[in-house]
Amino acid sequence: MTQKGLLLVVSGPSGVGKGTICSKLMSERDNIKMSVSVTTRQPRPGETEGVSYFFRTEEEFMKMVDADAFLEYMCVFGKNHYGTPKSYVEEQRNAGYDVILEIDVKGALKVKEKCDDAVMIFIAPPDMDTLRNRLVGRGTETPESVARRFGEAIKEIGLAQQYDYIIVNDNLDKAVGQVQSVISAEHSRVMNNTELINQLKGEM
Ligand code: ADP
Ligand code: 5GP
Repeated sequence: MTQKGLLLVVSGPSGVGKGTICSKLMSERDNIKMSVSVTTRQPRPGETEGVSYFFRTEEEFMKMVDADAFLEYMCVFGKNHYGTPKSYVEEQRNAGYDVILEIDVKGALKVKEKCDDAVMIFIAPPDMDTLRNRLVGRGTETPESVARRFGEAIKEIGLAQQYDYIIVNDNLDKAVGQVQSVISAEHSRVMNNTELINQLKGEM
């Protein structure tokens, strides 16, 4: 008996620690897969094709849009396209794996519109200074990119009320533990256990 996997949407402002939280979660939990997005941005040092992202040209990306290959896609920061491939998510969930989408807030809200069983988790910074320091400290952004991402962050935090859960990433272990608790609770939802109930009823 395989319970269908959860669709976990982990989002929040750039630099809040989504990637760090998801990596730790993946190392602690079996039965969970990260969805790999497609992007038109250039790879950062250390990023690997098919692991970090599928890196594609604008033209290749648009062909995928035309083929309806995305669960959602967005132009993030008015610059690069990012999209969640549909087929991978469904295949993994049907095989019983929980799937994490680590995506920006606008994309996350599009997923919520399409998938009413998506579990929406908003990662928040303990305060805005910490968020700015993390963005700068990561060392991957130009000053212009930091300013743009920080500006977006203020708008994104205003959308947190549309999520199911909000987790403050102050202490990493604590934040990961809270995501683990959400996953456990979601697996215990009655609506996610109809097969179990039917099986027990069948044994009466
Ligand atoms: P995002 O994926 O949300 O853009 P990252 O995971 O890349 O953010 O994290 C941004 C920076 O903040 C990284 O340098 C990361 O090491 C650091 N970071 C993440 N979580 C914490 C935390 N709880 N405490 C201190 N630094 C953190
Ligand atoms: P980065 O360029 O820092 O890797 O990502 C920029 C932003 O794009 C992050 O907020 C990240 O979560 C988001 N992102 C990554 N993949 C996707 C995706 O498939 N769809 C959407 N909408 N956003 C994504």
